[in-house]
Amino acid sequence: MLADLHCHSNVSDGLLPPGAVAARAAANGVTLLALTDHDNTDGVAEALAAAETHDGLTVLAGVEISVAWRSVQVHIVGLNVRCENAALQAGLAGIRSGRIDRGRRMAEALAKAGIEGAFEGAMKHCETPDTLSRAHFARFLVDVGKAPNVRSVFERYLVPGKPGYVEHVWASVEDAVSWIRDAGGVAVIAHPGRYDFRARLFDTLCGHFQDCGGEAIEVVSGSHSVDQTRRMAQVARRFSFLASCGSDFHGPSESYVDLGQLPPLPEDLTPVWHALGFA
Ligand code: AMP
Ligand code: MN
Ligand code: MN
Ligand code: MN
Repeated sequence: MLADLHCHSNVSDGLLPPGAVAARAAANGVTLLALTDHDNTDGVAEALAAAETHDGLTVLAGVEISVAWRSVQVHIVGLNVRCENAALQAGLAGIRSGRIDRGRRMAEALAKAGIEGAFEGAMKHCETPDTLSRAHFARFLVDVGKAPNVRSVFERYLVPGKPGYVEHVWASVEDAVSWIRDAGGVAVIAHPGRYDFRARLFDTLCGHFQDCGGEAIEVVSGSHSVDQTRRMAQVARRFSFLASCGSDFHGPSESYVDLGQLPPLPEDLTPVWHALGFA
């Protein structure tokens, strides 16, 4: 089993179409892949169809839901969701409808910092307008020479306290977990090492997530250091969370970690795919 349960296509802010993501995963030896676009499941059908042509690859329907908790953006991945579920789709549509409005406010904030044309410039990078993301704005800022690459954009722009960042009302943790569970899926705290919470506050988030019905945490993530992986393994043990792993791959030129290129989960943890019926 080589599982990669977190990645993006150009249905959200990834660079490759869903079928190409599945093909690349298969070429890298991945046997279980979840496509988890931001607030959108529209790429899943194409990824599932592509998996049919690659022996040994199973694709799961997934989604990465944007939520706010204590004014911080937190991401909750849903694995093995029924995409046709009405509650899930209504919830995701609600989040997406806010993205265009937020994009306009981000462009206004960038204009105040002397950078014009950001909305149109970001939209040029966005295949599906209602998933307009900070990643699309980051690509625009690279285009106009504000930073050498997308990773370095986020050191100077688009994050709290920097030009282009605006507050936004996303879904709640409770909403996201309930939509995922209503759709038959398992809820996972995405890339927990990235959140800037003190340990006690992070424990409060984990407890709240669990009270809402959340069952898993990404212990191994493309954005985790060795130390973050070790700490999140401890969190999984303390809360008896299932353990997930995902590259968070967005594209060959933008991601540190390619599809499937992840260290194994610590052996004492229960992999989330056991709960999904995979040995
Ligand atoms: P949004 O959901 O529109 O707020 O955008 C969040 C997306 O921006 C993430 O999913 C990443 O693709 C990208 N992003 C955010 N922070 C960073 C960062 N520090 N480095 C690289 N990409 C980032
Ligand atoms: Mn992204
Ligand atoms: Mn994320
Ligand atoms: Mn992601």
